[in-house]
Amino acid sequence: MKLDTVDLAILRILQEDSRSSILDIAKATGVSRPTVKARIERLKQAGVVKKFTVAIDRDAILENILLIVRMKAEDLEEVASALRRMEEVLEVYEIMGERNLACKAAVRNMGEVKVLMERIGRLPVRDLESSIVLRTYKEEYETRIGPEIGISMDCEYCGKRIHGDPVKFTLHNQEHYFCCNTCLKGFRRRLELAAKAGK
Ligand SMILES: [Zn+2]
Repeated sequence: MKLDTVDLAILRILQEDSRSSILDIAKATGVSRPTVKARIERLKQAGVVKKFTVAIDRDAILENILLIVRMKAEDLEEVASALRRMEEVLEVYEIMGERNLACKAAVRNMGEVKVLMERIGRLPVRDLESSIVLRTYKEEYETRIGPEIGISMDCEYCGKRIHGDPVKFTLHNQEHYFCCNTCLKGFRRRLELAAKAGK
C-alpha cells in the first residue's frame, strides 16, 4: 500500500488548510469530487489522517510555558501511558541515552510547572530533568511526506495489520482493504447477510 501523487496532493492541501472543501481539492488536483472524497475516507481509514485540526500560534497566547522533561523509566509503557493521560503533556517520546523517556508539556505559569513536575515525579521514574523553553525557533505540526511513502493499514474484516499488498475491493466508489481473500469473502458474506436482513 503506497501513497500515490493524488494522495500526496490531497494531504498537502489539507496540511495547508484542513478546511479546504472537497470541491477546492478536486479543482486543485484535477480529480473528481467522489475520488477526492473516497481518497480522504481511505486516508482516514488507514490512520494516515488522524484529525483535522488548527495550528495555533503559541506566542499569541499569554502565559504559555513550554517544558521539555526527560526521565529514566524502568517500565516505559507504564510511564508513557501515564504521561499521555496528562492534559498538559503534548508529546511523549522514547529516546536513546541514560534517560529513556522525554515529553513536551505546556503550562500557564511557574506554579503549574511545579505542580506538573511533582505529578511526574510521583511516577516510577528516576533522574527527572526539566528544561523551560526560552524561545521557539521552529515548530512544525506537519509530518514530512514524500512520494511513494509506504503506509500501513488494518484489515477491515479481522482488524489485523496488513503486511504486503492488501486485497482490494471497491464498492459504491469506496475502496475496502483486506489482509487476505478469506477476510474479503467474510466481508462480502456479511454484506450479503445485511442486505438479506434489510429486505
Ligand atoms: Zn483480515
